[in-house]
Amino acid sequence: MHTHFIKHNIMTLDSYNFKGKKAIVRVDFNVPLDENGKITDDTRIRGALPTLKKILADGGSLIIMSHMGKPKGKVNPKMSLSQIKDDVAKALGVDVAFAEDCAAADEAAAALKPGQALLLENLRFYPEEEGKPVGIDKADPAYDAAKKEMKERQKEFAKKLASYADVYVNDAFGTAHRKHASTAVIADYFQPDDKMLGYLMEKEVKAVDNILSNINRPFTAIMGGSKVSTKIGIIENLMDKVDNLILCGGMTYTFAKAMGGKIGNSLCEEDKLDLALEIMKKAKEKGVNLILGTDCIAADSFSNDAKTMVCSAMDIPDGWEGLDAGPETRKAFVAAIEPSKTILWNGPAGVFEFDNFTGGSRAIADAIVVATKNGAFSLIGGGDSVACINKFGLADEVSYVSTGGGALLEAIEGKVLPGVAAVK
Ligand code: AMP
Repeated sequence: MHTHFIKHNIMTLDSYNFKGKKAIVRVDFNVPLDENGKITDDTRIRGALPTLKKILADGGSLIIMSHMGKPKGKVNPKMSLSQIKDDVAKALGVDVAFAEDCAAADEAAAALKPGQALLLENLRFYPEEEGKPVGIDKADPAYDAAKKEMKERQKEFAKKLASYADVYVNDAFGTAHRKHASTAVIADYFQPDDKMLGYLMEKEVKAVDNILSNINRPFTAIMGGSKVSTKIGIIENLMDKVDNLILCGGMTYTFAKAMGGKIGNSLCEEDKLDLALEIMKKAKEKGVNLILGTDCIAADSFSNDAKTMVCSAMDIPDGWEGLDAGPETRKAFVAAIEPSKTILWNGPAGVFEFDNFTGGSRAIADAIVVATKNGAFSLIGGGDSVACINKFGLADEVSYVSTGGGALLEAIEGKVLPGVAAVK
C-alpha cells in the first residue's frame, strides 16, 4: 500500500487539469540555426509539442522558456529566441507573444488568456540562469564569495520566473543534468502538486529505467566513440548490469596498445593504458563478455579518400591508423547483438562522418534493428550515435532514440538528474 501511495504521489501531465492555469514550461529549443537565423533542424521543437499542446487544449496558457547556445550570461542577438518565435507559433498553431526581458515579463504573463502563449528570451542571457559567476577565475581568492552571491541571485531569478505561473513543467531532457534556475531551482517555488515532468521527459526517464532496472536478458551495451576517458563512468556502471559489453571506435586502440599491440597512428590515450587493463580484469571477474575489435580497417591518412587495408587491431603498420571495425570484428558484434533482448548503443564504431568508414557502425545498427524486430528494447543515445542512426535512416526501427547527450549518459551512469529530482 505504502509504495503504491508513493508511486502515485508524483503529479503527471495527464493527471493535471490546466484549465485556467498559467503553466511555465522549460523546453529545449536550442535548435541549430543557419547564418540567416533560419532553423536547420526542428526536431527539438517538435519534441516539445505534445506537452505544449496538451496544456493549451486543457484551456491553460503557456509561458515557454528555453536557452539557446552559450551566450555566457550576456545578451547576444545571434542567440535570440525571437528568431524562432514564428516557427514556434506555426508548430503550435497559435500566436506567440515574445518577452525580450525574461526577468521582467510580469505584464506579458499577466495578460495571457487561456489558449495563449508567451515565449521568453534566451534564459542564458542572464548569468543567474546557470548560476556561475562571470568574469572571475576559479583561482581568484574572491571566487567563492562571488559564487555564493551568484547562487543567491540565481534563487531570486528562479523565484521571479516562478511568479509568472501557477504550475511548472520541465520538458527539457537535454539540460536535465544541470542544476540551473529554470531546470531545477525554480521548482522550489511551486507546491508538490504544481510541478511535473513533460511528456518528452517522461519518455526519456522511462527509457533509461528500462535499461537500468527493467532488464530482459541478454543485455548488450555498445560503447564507441573516440575516448575511454569520457565513457569510463558509464562503462563502470554498466559492468554490473550487462551480459555483453562491446567497446569499439577509437577506444579499441588504447586497449590494443595496453595488451602489447602495435597500433601505428591510431587514436590512443597513453595515460589510460592501465585503466584499459583494469576494465578487462573487472569484466572477467564479473563474468561480463567483453568484446573488443580484433581486426580493423586501417587507413594511410585521416581522410575519407585514404588508402585502406584490413589488418589485425594489434598489428597496425607504422603510418597507418585504425578508422573502422574490420569484418571479423563486425561479425563478433553482430553475433552478440542480434540475440539480445536489451540493447544500449552510445558512440560510433568508426569515423562514421567519412562515408568509407561507416561499415562497422552500420553493422551494429542493422543488428540492433534485427534484435528490435525480435522483441528487444533498444536505446540509442548520445549525439554521435543518434547522428549515425539518422544517417542510416533507421531511427524508426529501434525502440527509442534519446534526445539527451550529457543528460542521458549521466542518467545511465546512475547519477540523479537535478531536473528530474526537482519535480519529484
Ligand atoms: P565521442 O564524442 O567520444 O562519442 O566520439 C565520437 C567520435 O569518435 C566521432 O566523431 C568519430 O568519428 C570518432 N571515432 C570513432 N572511431 C574512431 C577511430 N577509430 N579513430 C578516430 N576517431 C574515431
